[in-house]
Amino acid sequence: MDAVTLVRHPLVQHKLSLMRDKTCSTKQFRELLNEISLFLGYEVTRDLPVVKREIETPMAKMNAPFIEGKKLVFAPVLRAGMGLLDGMLALVPSARVAHIGLYRDPETLQAVEYFFKAPEDIADRLVIILDPMLATGHSACTAVQLIKDKGAKEIRFVSLLAAPEGIEKLRTTHHDIRIWTAAIDDRLNDHGYIIPGLGDAGDRIYGTK
Ligand code: URA
Repeated sequence: MDAVTLVRHPLVQHKLSLMRDKTCSTKQFRELLNEISLFLGYEVTRDLPVVKREIETPMAKMNAPFIEGKKLVFAPVLRAGMGLLDGMLALVPSARVAHIGLYRDPETLQAVEYFFKAPEDIADRLVIILDPMLATGHSACTAVQLIKDKGAKEIRFVSLLAAPEGIEKLRTTHHDIRIWTAAIDDRLNDHGYIIPGLGDAGDRIYGTK
């Protein structure tokens, strides 16, 4: 079981390169992120257990596989994580959603919680945290801790881009968390931005800069 799964599909890499380009429009950026989220969602759900139940096709009875257990929870970290949500819900329409509101203190770079709302029975469900940028790892660690505090035991983390520092921080703080990402970049700059990265994901999704 890999601690970090790098999703190297050529279509993902191509779309990510288009997104990184600073001339990519807000509309195109959002569309590409949505398209990539389908691939990330495919990979992060690849090993979900299935259980066989008898059904009847128009031709015959058969034991057909269905996803086992309670519905998944997708947990986007606001606001950029919302850019990955629609694609995930397109793949798993019956999933529940937990919203995690965090902002980054610009001085300390620490994550500060401002909103958290999760399904009551989250403890019994697989939770997939969504945040396009795994940078310092501070907000990732805080998000995981908030979900763990609700009793969840199986948690996965999906990002679009990760910095080595963020992966290290998340893996050392929460060694049980597996990570899926489309790229691992070189480093962080002094402001905690990923280099080469793609800039501020929230601003690029919502056109706020
Ligand atoms: N958050 C972003 O949106 N971009 C970065 O490069 C790092 C954190």
